Amino acid sequence: MRIVIVGMPGAGKGTHAAALRARLKIPQISTGDMLRAAVAAGTARGREAAGYMKRGELVPDRQVVELVRERVMEADCAGGFILDGFPRTLEQALALRGAGVGIDIVLELHVPDEEVIERMTGRRTHLPSGRVYHVTRNPPKVPGADDITGEPLSVRADDAEDTVRNRIASYHAQTGPLLDYYRRQAAGEPGAPRYVRVDGSGSVAASRARVFAALGIA
Ligand code: AMP
Repeated sequence: MRIVIVGMPGAGKGTHAAALRARLKIPQISTGDMLRAAVAAGTARGREAAGYMKRGELVPDRQVVELVRERVMEADCAGGFILDGFPRTLEQALALRGAGVGIDIVLELHVPDEEVIERMTGRRTHLPSGRVYHVTRNPPKVPGADDITGEPLSVRADDAEDTVRNRIASYHAQTGPLLDYYRRQAAGEPGAPRYVRVDGSGSVAASRARVFAALGIA
């Protein structure tokens, strides 16, 4: 199954994509994680992306499309994959299609803006491992420290409140036309990806159950 998960930053795309990866045994491809890894490694791509990411802006399509196109051609994607955080714009979706990458299902994870702001500004990350906590929803055993290593947790630069508000505004502006495109395609074009909209609000367990049900898996 080739799945695209679309949703606001903080909607739970990464969390649900990881659950689907474990259940379906197909890779989870997160452009955010790939870009953060490139920034951390100091590659040319990472240096080009860093400024956009810090400001909460989208990295230019050309760069992200190239990253994904290369990744889905790897052998482990032959049986399907989960794209988490890509495409985010209509241009990216068209480029994906133009590159001959087929998609079976588009899953929109819907969460109200205010809930997203509360989720993201409370997020604390253990940067070396990527483990994520939340000050109230999923607190670490010791405040401010990673459960496994005891190392300090950080607020990701793009989880600061101003940046979160920018990312939400940019989501609505950029992703609205993308969702319209997928909805229209699903309604009118034979062989188009199926489109499902799932309520991603509330607890992780409840929204995960809705995601699995929408995909017809237990
Ligand atoms: P994420 O972890 O998915 O929220 O992504 C973090 C940041 O990486 C975003 O704010 C963007 O700057 C960049 N990014 C991730 N995915 C994309 C994409 N599909 N297109 C453009 N920029 C992206």
